[in-house]
Amino acid sequence: MTLHPGIAAKLAATADHAVETLCPRCGAPVLTARAGRVAALDVVADVEPITVTEEILALLAGRLTWHLITGALGTRRITWRGATHIRAGPARHPVLADHTCPPQPVQGRLL
Ligand SMILES: [Zn+2]
Repeated sequence: MTLHPGIAAKLAATADHAVETLCPRCGAPVLTARAGRVAALDVVADVEPITVTEEILALLAGRLTWHLITGALGTRRITWRGATHIRAGPARHPVLADHTCPPQPVQGRLL
């Protein structure tokens, strides 16, 4: 089945809209989106924006960071935040980090 070109265009235009949901593994609130138009990535990010220090720690841990852009109509989009954005100075939008589930408790440590 092929989508009507108009519907496909609308789907593509809204793919990077942030959707709040719960992480299926740990239950934490997360934002999901398909960021990018050419080589899109499925993003699952923590909902709370991070500070500059937290971004450095996230990047050192191998996590990607993202801009959360809120449009004039309140639509939220997740977009790529790369080295060029980071070098440009303070972020103009809230910065989110990829979600990572907290470590699971080990049975032996509880006792
Ligand atoms: Zn999780």
